Amino acid sequence: MEELKTIIRDIPDFPKKGILFKDITTLLADAKSYHRMVDLIAHRYFGQNIAQVVGVEARGFVLGAALAYKLGAGVTLVRKPGKLPYRTRKQTYQLEYGEDTLEIHEDALQPGTRVVIADDLLATGGTVAAVYELVTSLGAEVVECAFMTELTFLNGRQRLPADKVFSLLQFD
Ligand code: IMP
Repeated sequence: MEELKTIIRDIPDFPKKGILFKDITTLLADAKSYHRMVDLIAHRYFGQNIAQVVGVEARGFVLGAALAYKLGAGVTLVRKPGKLPYRTRKQTYQLEYGEDTLEIHEDALQPGTRVVIADDLLATGGTVAAVYELVTSLGAEVVECAFMTELTFLNGRQRLPADKVFSLLQFD
């Protein structure tokens, strides 16, 4: 796991001064690391009847699609406002400054569908809490939220039920 962590690049002052951004594009671009990361996460959900993986725009799509393929599941997209063509359900959430909104097609998930939510990184948890709300409001069952990385010092996992968060790599 330490090996995977070292491939992630730190970018100081991105997207603004004082933030140390974890750039996971370097992990995605390294074939061996990318495949290992997907395999390790997928392994956790084998045999668990996962019907859909919900990917969060945009880096969550990269994990979500690969996971879904490995699990024999479908992919459901959660996107930024105005991108999904059919009728949507929306969830607005707070950012450090201002707010943001995410959308899901209102018919994307049937009640009782077993779902894994996938994103690249868990920080404050605001994004995943909004996605969790969208998914459960459609009646789907969230088996777990799976992240490539977690910034543990931001305590984002407290925004979700304790047994619903998994991250492969932690930074503290
Ligand atoms: P949160 O809502 O504060 O948990 O932020 C998580 C969301 O912001 C995820 O969708 C990430 O893609 C993105 N994000 C926040 N910080 C980083 C970072 O350091 N690297 C990559 N993505 C990040």
